[in-house]
Amino acid sequence: MNQRHAMGGATNHSKCAVLSAADSESIRLAGLIIKRGGLVAFPTETVYGLGCDAMNADAAAKIFEAKQRPQFDPLIVHIADPKQLNGVIESLPVLGQRLMDVFWPGPLTLVLPKQPAIPDLVTAGLSTVAVRMPNHPVAQAFIREAGTPIAGPSANPFGYVSPTTAQHVADGLESKIDLILDGGPCPVGLESTIVSLAGPQPELLRPGSITIEQLNAVIGLIHRSSPVVNEKPIAPGQLSRHYATETQLTILASVGARPILNDDERAGLLIHSQARATDDRFAAVEVLSPTGDPRDAARHLFAALRRLDSLGLDRIYAEPCKEEGLGLAIMDRLRRCAAR
Ligand code: AMP
Ligand code: MG
Repeated sequence: MNQRHAMGGATNHSKCAVLSAADSESIRLAGLIIKRGGLVAFPTETVYGLGCDAMNADAAAKIFEAKQRPQFDPLIVHIADPKQLNGVIESLPVLGQRLMDVFWPGPLTLVLPKQPAIPDLVTAGLSTVAVRMPNHPVAQAFIREAGTPIAGPSANPFGYVSPTTAQHVADGLESKIDLILDGGPCPVGLESTIVSLAGPQPELLRPGSITIEQLNAVIGLIHRSSPVVNEKPIAPGQLSRHYATETQLTILASVGARPILNDDERAGLLIHSQARATDDRFAAVEVLSPTGDPRDAARHLFAALRRLDSLGLDRIYAEPCKEEGLGLAIMDRLRRCAAR
């Protein structure tokens, strides 16, 4: 491995190391890179994150640079132990404690009043910080080794489909970061659910794999912020177009509906289950789950979108799914992918 790259000195036009997270030496190296202000991509249960020391503004600046992420879009701070909240948030409301007790470690991000020590760049100048404790063993080992909370968005160029494998990270960012920890495919496959507890009542900012039904059961009915805001969002991370393929994606009118294709149209089809015979008018068909299990669909969605996007098709047609349970988050991502 090229030590210069693995020590926080990534330059453009060069590749970074991709190391198996099963090797404890890789975790040790990852911790060292973070301490020196570098960038490490790491697996979580949701998607791969691009991490840096959350207390280091210069390191955070490298994340925005690598991702070409606009500075109005803040990062999520990842911790390995609830005790680390002390250095990150100002106060924890009762509802926050209740949500943590039930869903942490896990794919739930809480937005809370921030400690002044968190650099403004990390929170896009907001008085709040988004924080989460992932349940992926590699993410936990990596954060512990780094000895600091880890700020990180998804490890992909801004606006593109989130990465669920180390190869996806390498495809988009390889020349711009110091190390990729390969922990295999992400078991959930969709970004975390984000709940803000910074206002007068809890608000769902982004649907994810912790469902609205699960949240309601713990803290009562939760208000859902309007799913699509605009190109200059007040609450960031709510851009209408995001998680998007290069290829135009169109959501079909209903389950089982099939489009009329132009004579020379090369199209891809994304469906949720293998209910009927495949349609040979399509250049490629991706089936998210043989049985229609939404957990399979969530896990496979981003890899399937990336495969279809790599084929240079004229259009991708995606079947919708019911907007309940995990289906709410899946449709949220498909809609933002379809927005132009
Ligand atoms: P990503 O992990 O790339 O999906 O990005 C992190 C998400 O968390 C983005 O959608 C951010 O806008 C959102 N986020 C981070 N911090 C805050 C905050 N303080 N308030 C609201 N949303 C936030
Ligand atoms: Mg992202």
